[in-house]
Amino acid sequence: MIAIVSLNLPFLGPFDYLVPPELADQLVRGARLLVPFGPTERVGWLLGLAEESAVKGLKPILAIVEADPLFSPEQLDFLEWTAEYYACKPAEVFEAAIPAALKPKIKRQLNLKELPEGLQEEERAYLAQAQGSDPQNLKRKAKGQPLGELIKRGLSEGWAQVDYRIEVPLEAGTPWFKWLQRPESPAKRSKMAQVVEALGELEEFSLAQLERVVAKPASLIKKAVQEGNLQRLIKPLELPLNIQRNKFLPLSPEQQICQDALKEGMGTFGAFLLKGVTGSGKTEVYLQIAADVLEAGKNVLILLPEISLTPQAIRRFTERFGQSIAVLHSQMADGQRAQEWLKIKKGRVSVVIGARSAIFAPLKNLGLIVVDEEHDHSYKQQESPAYNARDLALKLGQDHQALVVLGSATPSVESYHNAQSGKYHLLELTKRITGTDPPKLQVIDLKEARRVKGVFYLSSQLYERLVENHEAGRQAILFLNRRGYAACLSCKACEAPVLCPRCDVAMTWHQGKGQLHCHHCGERSFYPKICKLCGETKFGLEGIGTERIERDLRILFPQARFIRIDRDTVTKRGSLEAAIAQVEAGEVDFLIGTQMIAKGHDFQHVGLVAVLFADLGLNIPDFRSSERGFQLFAQVSGRAGRGEGKLGEAWLQTYNPQHEAILAAVNQDYEGFYAFEAERRATLGMPPFSRWIQLRISDANAAKAAEGAQALGEILRDYQSSLGFEMMGPEPAPITKIADRYYWHLLFSTSRPKALKQLLLRVLPDRTSYDLKSSARISLDVDPYLFL
Ligand code: ADP
Ligand code: ZN
Repeated sequence: MIAIVSLNLPFLGPFDYLVPPELADQLVRGARLLVPFGPTERVGWLLGLAEESAVKGLKPILAIVEADPLFSPEQLDFLEWTAEYYACKPAEVFEAAIPAALKPKIKRQLNLKELPEGLQEEERAYLAQAQGSDPQNLKRKAKGQPLGELIKRGLSEGWAQVDYRIEVPLEAGTPWFKWLQRPESPAKRSKMAQVVEALGELEEFSLAQLERVVAKPASLIKKAVQEGNLQRLIKPLELPLNIQRNKFLPLSPEQQICQDALKEGMGTFGAFLLKGVTGSGKTEVYLQIAADVLEAGKNVLILLPEISLTPQAIRRFTERFGQSIAVLHSQMADGQRAQEWLKIKKGRVSVVIGARSAIFAPLKNLGLIVVDEEHDHSYKQQESPAYNARDLALKLGQDHQALVVLGSATPSVESYHNAQSGKYHLLELTKRITGTDPPKLQVIDLKEARRVKGVFYLSSQLYERLVENHEAGRQAILFLNRRGYAACLSCKACEAPVLCPRCDVAMTWHQGKGQLHCHHCGERSFYPKICKLCGETKFGLEGIGTERIERDLRILFPQARFIRIDRDTVTKRGSLEAAIAQVEAGEVDFLIGTQMIAKGHDFQHVGLVAVLFADLGLNIPDFRSSERGFQLFAQVSGRAGRGEGKLGEAWLQTYNPQHEAILAAVNQDYEGFYAFEAERRATLGMPPFSRWIQLRISDANAAKAAEGAQALGEILRDYQSSLGFEMMGPEPAPITKIADRYYWHLLFSTSRPKALKQLLLRVLPDRTSYDLKSSARISLDVDPYLFL
């Protein structure tokens, strides 16, 4: 019997292996197997069995990792479909679908049987001490020596063999706690205060839940147990589903229409696009349809962008549904993620809330999949497997005959197109629950505006509004999508910017650190002594970043309190939440940040928001930059005047006030923007009006990358007319060099993606045909989102 095995190797396989008779009746599809591969072993995934193989000289499987596969047959179908769609190997998807902590640990032991006649004394002594050791280590140590050859001989003659012991770290007993007495008035903003606040009325909770609130809770637990506040429980987790109907809010008439439509669709597949401005009550609709689905005995999957997956967001679900919830996000510790994952696999939870990769959670019997903020680009994974969880949600919904709800204030052009063409049902919430409209976005034309002295990027008009807002005791949020102090340093004599030594981009100046940072590869360096091009020694700062804005505003508003939120100030997961809590508590007057703060958070005291330089994102060479800009501007203005019944104001500074994304955001005209954008894309043959696949090639040697890309281009060009695709390139990537590698792109546009994928998968594995060196990397991206 032959096992067909997929390995996590791009473009290669599946591979055939012999099944040893003693393993034959233990092999179940989806099981992980240890197989020999070249000089080593690898863990692979069993795709299926066959009677015969076309390949001669097959090697046998070495061992079974687990007889009980991690995935159900239905899930294996879904994952294999995903691999086919994204033109990658099933094992690449399987491994993206499981938590890293479930990777097996492999132990090898040399097992010597009856030794042959005629061995020397020295050889016998060597073998005696080699018994039981890891043969890989032995081989490495004795490389090329006669004693090393001896073990090789033993393995081929059969008097030596390697035994494998495979360990999969599985769920340890999950620690679990109960309040004996909640601590009275814990110190403000202490870890304990956060715990009491975040856990709300829960009587019992798990370590995993605690870790969601505070990092490293060990010392806190110890103290609380000592002081008699907390009791450790040893009982196994019970995760009751406990639907708190009394906590549900009476729906507004608009919400009720949505809820009725969803309820009517229950029990079969249906895709719904819920378009509703921020604060219009979309989440309340998700919660209520989720309750109906759960009561009908089915399970619920909720996807949120990583950054929106806050304790507050999770609490909205635990409050309504009790403990039958698992949370998956990429910043959890490996072990904790594995625990949550196994809870799902064992069928102990009914609701899964997670970021992108939760689309692969082993949840059975799905009745509802929600993708909140469906337009968010974090649903697309950039590296292989380059899947898009939003798009996969529809396939998963079809497989399970489940409802799929995509929600957004500013739906992606793709999803709105599907709603227009009738593929999705469109549901709309047009009003905020509070009745206040989001403020109208006001535009300042930087070509004409007077500026504040010494702060060249700040118009006097915006400055005056900031003063007035501050004097009224309200908060202001200022956005700029670039961290650091200055965009670059440039030579005063020859104007050349200081480039990253490893990338062809300018490095960003970080004043606080006194360093230049490359935002692409992470390279850091100090202020340069001389210009590499002309030898001069004077440099000027160009362009601005969030760090600079904070410094300037501190000078303009010496009495005010500031906080900056970007990837420099927020390095750990908890620190973003702490920063947001400070804003919510009214402890800061100005919040300065990147797009990290654009979405989700529900700030109550904000009177003014401003985008300081709207052109930054609009100038990126990407066909979606206009869409992304529009979404950002709409989201930003939604941040002002959310609470207190007072109106807020939203401002945007730009050199290009006539840009369609800006005009549409000003007029709050989603339909207008969509119509413009859809027509442009239809005319230019861009998605969703054609399907794109990108092929990226990179090599450490610039000439090799170019030659390989051109050779591939030559081969593929010949198929254009017969397979009905159009090829753009090969051409150097917009950022040609990143981290010492040179990138080339080929972009394909087609209406027959299957034929194209087949062609690519046939041509790419044979590198000799296009003379690409083994140092080169190739990757395919189906429905790409990143063009740099
Ligand atoms: P969205 O998800 O569209 O941003 P939410 O569901 O978060 O909107 O609702 C915004 C605010 O309005 C929340 O504070 C929520 O509790 C409240 N809300 C939502 N629906 C109702 C309702 N039917 N009655 C009263 N308040 C509601
Ligand atoms: Zn770099």
